[in-house]
This record gives sequence, structure tokens and C-alpha cells, in this order.
Amino acid sequence: MTHPAQPKASHFINGEYVEDTAGTPIPVIYAATGEQIATVHAATPAIVEQALSTAKAAQKAWAKMTGTERGRILRRAADIMREGNHDLSVLETYDTGKPLQETLVADATSGADALEYFGGLAASLTGEHIPLGEDWVYTKREALGLCVGIGAWNYPTQIACWKGAPALACGNAMVFKPSETTPLCALKVAEILIEAGAPAGVFNVVQGMGEVGGALVTDPRVDKVSLTGSVPTGKKVYAAAAEGMKHVTMELGGKSPLIIFDDADIDNAVGGAINGNFYSSGQVCSNGTRVFVQKGIKEKFLARLAERTGNAILGDPMDEATSFGPMVTENQMNIVLGYIEKGKEEGARLICGGKRADMDGYFIEPTVFADVTDDMTIAREEIFGPVMSVLDFDTEEEVVARANDTEFGLSAGVFTKDFTRAHRVIGNLEAGSCFINSYNDAPVEAPFGGVKASGVGRENSKEAIKHFSQVKSVYVRMGDVEAAF
Ligand code: NDP
Repeated sequence: MTHPAQPKASHFINGEYVEDTAGTPIPVIYAATGEQIATVHAATPAIVEQALSTAKAAQKAWAKMTGTERGRILRRAADIMREGNHDLSVLETYDTGKPLQETLVADATSGADALEYFGGLAASLTGEHIPLGEDWVYTKREALGLCVGIGAWNYPTQIACWKGAPALACGNAMVFKPSETTPLCALKVAEILIEAGAPAGVFNVVQGMGEVGGALVTDPRVDKVSLTGSVPTGKKVYAAAAEGMKHVTMELGGKSPLIIFDDADIDNAVGGAINGNFYSSGQVCSNGTRVFVQKGIKEKFLARLAERTGNAILGDPMDEATSFGPMVTENQMNIVLGYIEKGKEEGARLICGGKRADMDGYFIEPTVFADVTDDMTIAREEIFGPVMSVLDFDTEEEVVARANDTEFGLSAGVFTKDFTRAHRVIGNLEAGSCFINSYNDAPVEAPFGGVKASGVGRENSKEAIKHFSQVKSVYVRMGDVEAAF
């Protein structure tokens, strides 16, 4: 019998599901059991062509609609998404393995927030009038044209919406390629947009590996590429986009610092460290995986952290009591287990976890290492799994310098009751998305993105509009034209 997660077809182009079984089969594995639940096919060159030419053709008419009309469709899509939240969350859980307890509140809901927010902004995208004596200049905020979105596997619904909603609000069309690991949810986003009244072809989904992404990025018809992925992939995609002078948004990886001063409320700080390391089993780009704890509270912090981490409930992700799911794939699990071994070998002190959980699926116990030093592999490289490194520090000056000593710059957090210090420290940290006495909140109203190797551009908020539109300026002369001859 066909599994309920199996989509009708692999791709969604021009308002309908499209199949081409000549493409390489991509098995979809449910991470909690290792069972294959669906199959999709990678896009063939013919499918890529169909998606790009359809989107290119649909974009012009879409951009000519008023912002109010486009916004109404996006807001309707948000409502449909919220009404379908339970089923969409179940699908997200099948796609990623993340527990339903999380997906019910973090995925379709945040996708709907993006659709609603950018739907609301669509009507207010205006230009300026710049008086110049009798003459004047006016500006128009115009769509870029055809945008490509490429997603990572950790938030397949959210990533499709975080890219699709602002792109469509500005009058662009999009071809979206999900990660081959999680191909299911973006198809639903495309289906919902059609149900909400979006014209066929303005949001299309094609499946495939990096090769398909590469074909999209290098196509001369494409005006913009927005990627969520790792730094190495980001460098490749950025370079390929530069060849065609395309706009880019790069949301890449991180190794973000979370700094806990000894005056912090310990339980809140522990809560922040848990949210910043174990949500989605640690598969979150903005995670605060280098937890710097001031020496005075180190052992107290570690004791409370170990106690609370022990309360994580590993189990069937479809059981709403489960609070901690598996790694997305067996491969990702093995990568993370490799890092855990490295941590042990390099002399970090294991506080809890540290191994694969004794159950079906790709579960790793939430793991905390203490006495981690700056040069250890687990403190330098992005692990993308439930492995927290706790490092100690003495002074503010020292911790800021050490926190910044990384190629990455996505996020940073600080816990302290001293608000002057909190703002000073955040001001000195090299990171794009920061938190004071909190960690990993990502409301659509706030800009999200990194500095240094962690990326270029911002998603969400009004900032995203700037990255999916461009300004045309028009000089208007009222008098005669003077010329030298
Ligand atoms: P990858 O970088 O491996 O892949 C990201 C996407 O790019 C996938 O869809 C992938 O396809 C595609 N891709 C790979 N190579 C190319 C290429 N040459 N041209 C075009 N597209 C290509 O990332 P993961 O999926 O493994 O996701 C994990 C990474 O994403 C982590 O490093 C994490 O930090 C980062 N991330 C960043 C976020 C942010 O907002 N800053 C949010 C979430 C994750 P396929 O995988 O199908 O081959």
C-alpha cells in the first residue's frame, strides 16, 4: 500500500504535479525507523527547462498585479496552511524525523507567518518622489524577475516559505529545489499557493541533487539565487551566480557563541543552551554550539544542564510526548557520531550522552562536553547535531575575543542580568542574528542571516524585500534639454 507521505508526483510546475520517471530515483527515508516511505525522481533537463520557462512566462503578469492582489493570495495561503497545520506537521515529521511536538508549532506555522507577513507588506512596496527644483526623480521598487530557491533539509516547509513569500510579494516567480533528503513539504507549499489563487507557474518545485541546483543557478534566465545550506555549497553557488551577475542571498552555517555570565539566571541560561543546541536534535544553523560559561558558575550550570537534559524524551516522533527526534539521515548520524568520538579523543569531558541511542532510527543522545578548548575540533567545526560544547572563561574582554575567533558569524547570545554589559557584548560580537537572555527565536518580523562566512543578505522582515526587489530611478525633466551642440 502506498504510504500517505508519497506525493502524487515528484515536481510541481505550472500549477500541477508533474512526473518524469527518467530522473534518478530519490528514496525518502523516515529517520525514526529507517523505512522508505516515498520515492521521487530528480528533475531531468526537460523538467528543469519546463520549470524555468513556465516561471519566466508567469512572472510578468504576476508582477503586473497590484500588491494588494498578490498580498491577498499570500494571506489566503497562510490561512490554508494554518487550517492544515496538523497534516502538514505530520508530513514535516515524515520528511525530517523532527518530533510532532516541534513541527506542530515551528514549521507550517512559521511558513504561514511568512506568507501572512509578506502578504501584508505587498501592497506597501512603493518608491520615492525626489524633488529637484522643477524637475524630479521618482523611484519604483520592481521585481528582480525569476528567482531560484535552494533549501537545506532541516526546515523544508519554513525554508520554502521564507524564500517564496517575499519573492512572490515583490512580484517575482520562483523555482524552488528542496534538499534531496527532504523533498516532500515544498510540494505542499506549491499546492497551497495554487489553492489560494496564485497564478500557475509563479511558484514551482523541482527535485534533485546538487546537479539540479547547479543547472538552475547557471541558467541565464535566472535573476536571483537564494540558498540555505552549508558554507562550502554556499561558496560554490555564490561563485556560479557571480558568473551571471545574479543577485544572491546566502543563509549558511555557523558555530555560534552563547555567553553566560556568572550573574545570569541559571535556569534561563540552561534553557537557552538547551534551545540553542537540542531543538530539532541540533540540526539548526543558528545554534549556539559554543557555550561559554563564566568560571564562577560553571559546575552549577553543568549540573543543572545535565539534570534537565536527562528529561529529554526520545521516541516515536509522532507521539506528541516525544521531545527529541532522530538525525535526518544515517549519514548525518554517522557524521555527528564521528565528531563525538573526536571530542572524546581530544580530551573534552563528557557530561551526558555521547552515543547512539539504543533504539530504531538514527537517534543520538543529547550530548554535552565540558572543558572544551578553543582549538578542539568540536569547538571549531559545525557539527549540525545534538552536541553542545561548554567552554569556560574569566573576563568579558577575553570571551568576546574568543567568541569572534571563527570564520562563521551567524548568531550569538548573551545571558546576564547586567543590561549595560549585555548590549556592550552584543555590540562587540561579529554575528547577524543575536539574542539577549534568550536563544534561537526567529520571528518573521526580525531580520535573519549571518556575517563573515555565514552568509550574505537577510531573510524575513522588511530586509528580505530589499533582497527580492530592485529600485528603478526615473529622472523627469519639465523644461527644455540643454546640450553642448
Ligand atoms: P548543503 O549545503 O549540502 O545543501 C544545501 C542545498 O544546496 C541542497 O538542496 C543541495 O542539494 C544543494 N546543492 C548542493 N550542491 C549544489 C550546487 N553545486 N549548486 C546548487 N545547489 C547545490 O546543506 P544541507 O542540506 O546539508 O544542510 C545543512 C547545512 O545548511 C548546514 O551547514 C547548515 O548550517 C546550513 N543551514 C543554514 C541555515 C541558515 O539559514 N543560515 C538554515 C539551515 C541550514 P542536495 O543536498 O539535494 O544535493
